[in-house]
Amino acid sequence: MTRFIFITGGVVSSLGKGLCSASLGALLQARGYKVRLRKLDPYLNVDPGTMSPYQHGEVYVTDDGAETDLDLGHYERFTGVPSRQTDSVTTGRIYSTVIAKERRGDYLGGTVQVIPHVTDAIKEFIQADVTDEDFILCEIGGTVGDIESLPFLEAIRQLGNELGDERTLFMHLTLIPFISAAGELKTKPTQHSVKELLGLGIQPDILMCRIDRPLPASDRRKIALFCNVREDAVIPAMDVDTIYQVPISYHDEGLDREVCKHFKLPIYKEPDLQRWYDIVERVRRPEGEVTIAVVGKYVQLKDAYKSLSEALEHGGIANNVKVKLDWIDSEIFEREDVAQHLEHVHGILVPGGFGERGAEGKIQAAKFARERDVPYFGICFGMQMAVIEAARNIIGLTDASTTEFGPTKTPVVGLMTEWVKGNEVQRRTEGADKGGTMRLGAYQCNLKAGTKVAEIYGEKTISERHRHRYEVNINYKPQLDKAGMVFCGMSPDGVLPEMVEYPDHPWFIGVQFHPELKSKPHEPHPLFTSFIAAAVHQSRLV
Ligand code: GLN
Repeated sequence: MTRFIFITGGVVSSLGKGLCSASLGALLQARGYKVRLRKLDPYLNVDPGTMSPYQHGEVYVTDDGAETDLDLGHYERFTGVPSRQTDSVTTGRIYSTVIAKERRGDYLGGTVQVIPHVTDAIKEFIQADVTDEDFILCEIGGTVGDIESLPFLEAIRQLGNELGDERTLFMHLTLIPFISAAGELKTKPTQHSVKELLGLGIQPDILMCRIDRPLPASDRRKIALFCNVREDAVIPAMDVDTIYQVPISYHDEGLDREVCKHFKLPIYKEPDLQRWYDIVERVRRPEGEVTIAVVGKYVQLKDAYKSLSEALEHGGIANNVKVKLDWIDSEIFEREDVAQHLEHVHGILVPGGFGERGAEGKIQAAKFARERDVPYFGICFGMQMAVIEAARNIIGLTDASTTEFGPTKTPVVGLMTEWVKGNEVQRRTEGADKGGTMRLGAYQCNLKAGTKVAEIYGEKTISERHRHRYEVNINYKPQLDKAGMVFCGMSPDGVLPEMVEYPDHPWFIGVQFHPELKSKPHEPHPLFTSFIAAAVHQSRLV
């Protein structure tokens, strides 16, 4: 029997609902249950793929090629369960489905309405593609009180009614602020938020209260009383020093026990949290520190590179070092000397990116890394810029560029117009729709024997997740080969360059895919482990 846990948020956004959901998923897993996590986002975009990273943060790509919310990254990192297209839905997608049905005449002349048609579509989504999971955790994006989230809240209210208490649980995350002028914690915002939820017909079963200090028993009692929740089900979610501590803290506060109690599941057997204790221990006691420069365009918003910073931390955990990140806006290299910013770092990473702004700075960062023997990791756009750098500065093709920036006589990187997905040929043209049309999701890549990447992976064929529209132009391979840049990973049909490296550089690797999306704290990605190891080595030199 699959049970559904709905997670809503109140008071303010950014309380870490995604981490909260992911942590509960990990706790239920540690009790031996099979879980899957889902995100329902109330915005009107069909998916976040077309949104600016400034608006939305990172776009997390699944194996099956869905462009989703970054919370799915938390889910996957904390539970190890690969997310799927069916784990992410937005108002835009729900409405597209409903309207397409209406156009087909499926509603047989009926008036199409939010209730029941839109809410039915949401309920269908929540229950779709479920097999033998014990729990489906559904996080509702946004904050209770937003106009956009109303149909979602109505849909989960209905499900609560239809499936009953034995199969549904409502969890609400709020904030208990400390007002320094009064020297007091305030429970009123939580009371209001729950009232709002009650007004929509939802009585939360468990309240998670974000708080920066211990919650006094009197406040706990007060919240329980006013919000009509048992005292034991008011769970303080205190700030912690590392995100890996979150499952442990929630367990200590009784979260998983309360969930089991609600569903009348056995509570006497403690979950096995050893792997979380181990990781927290390693994060808290590193044996050294390395500095990595992340040279990108969206560096003001750390959420734009969420999986990347996590993966770098995983690489640090694997090497027992703390990884300090120097976020550098690549545009700065158009005005200031590169060396001044990069001389002290132990590794340079140029992440994924789009568009011409800031690109020259990234090319310069790649040049600096190549010439100065500093470990360089180019991811997607970061690989493309490294190839353009080689074409310009080693081969001498001074106007080498990518067609992403406009027409060029030397398209070292060009638009992909055709590629193979499974047994099908995908075709794209200039000026086609932008949404969902990139080369997305998991694709295989063959590694060339004897190369550094083959050694790092210890495998001949790998599968990694992609999200790109442009590609290194295979026609320049002979020249780049001669320049010392090896095409060490290729698509199985041998047409698309997936990885490049310089064999005579300490560590210079470019990858067309996004390895950061598959890295997990308990299973650091081999490329990140190896990159940080190279940075540790570099730190001993400088
Ligand atoms: N803009 C480049 C492309 O579309 C790189 C994309 C990326 O870095 N994810 O190919």
